[in-house]
Amino acid sequence: MFPFRFSKASDEAAALAAAASGARYVADINALPYKDIDLQRSTLRVGSLVRMSELAANPGVRGQFPVIAQALELSASAQIRNMASIGGNLMQRPRCLYFRDVSAACNRRAPGSGCAAIDGRNRTHAILGTSDACIATHPSDLAVALTALDATVITRDGSGEHRIPIADFFRQPGRTPEQEHNLSAGETRRSGYLKVRDRESFEFALTSAAVAMDLATGRVRAARVAVGGVGTVPWRLPAVEQALIGQAAGPDLWRDAASHAADGAKPLSENGFKVELVKRTVERQLATVAGLP
Ligand code: SF4
Repeated sequence: MFPFRFSKASDEAAALAAAASGARYVADINALPYKDIDLQRSTLRVGSLVRMSELAANPGVRGQFPVIAQALELSASAQIRNMASIGGNLMQRPRCLYFRDVSAACNRRAPGSGCAAIDGRNRTHAILGTSDACIATHPSDLAVALTALDATVITRDGSGEHRIPIADFFRQPGRTPEQEHNLSAGETRRSGYLKVRDRESFEFALTSAAVAMDLATGRVRAARVAVGGVGTVPWRLPAVEQALIGQAAGPDLWRDAASHAADGAKPLSENGFKVELVKRTVERQLATVAGLP
């Protein structure tokens, strides 16, 4: 038993001061003022303590960023969405069963102990961005949507505010899987989220695809595509995006572009089916988003 002292911060300055003097945060941070949803023209700013259900229900978000609302609604049960925050959703730990089994080797939980999943039950694990140290997928649906939208994570510590592009926020496992993120502390824009899972109840993704696309006169002007359930971090697909830009919208384009969705994949004994599944997931979601009114 280690003695400790508990103090409750009621504003940001007090929380930062406590952290600077060596305090560790625990979850009771609900008194802090990060609960706003601010939509100015096409810029959306969301506080880390906004509830998942609140963001998903926001009329501006549903209208301008449907990919966010859809990803949130596919993430968890209504009860969990009513309680869980946006910040907590992005900072989820892996769902790997060995991560939660303290008798198993797991480099994320116990660095240097090995990875029981590589030669074990790996059907739901990653095929992109893996390393010899860890193959866990990132569990957040919202993170995939934000990756497709090129979102920025804004953090604050004693040295001020920091802006981190979401593509740089999550860390691929490499040799240090226990370090999961980089916290130091006239045209139509369409978007949507598709999640494929074993059961239609709230289950983590086998694959998912977030697509944001600008179409003008039947051609793709801009596209951002990210997938979940296959990568150790939310996985952006630049090869798919490049194949789309400037091309005439249509089924052939969706299929050809989606054929790059698993470029570089390293499937294992049980998860090879994800290679074809992620291509089909991306193809279907490209068609769905392009067909939106
Ligand atoms: Fe641990 Fe990652 Fe291996 Fe799962 S995949 S056992 S989280 S090191």
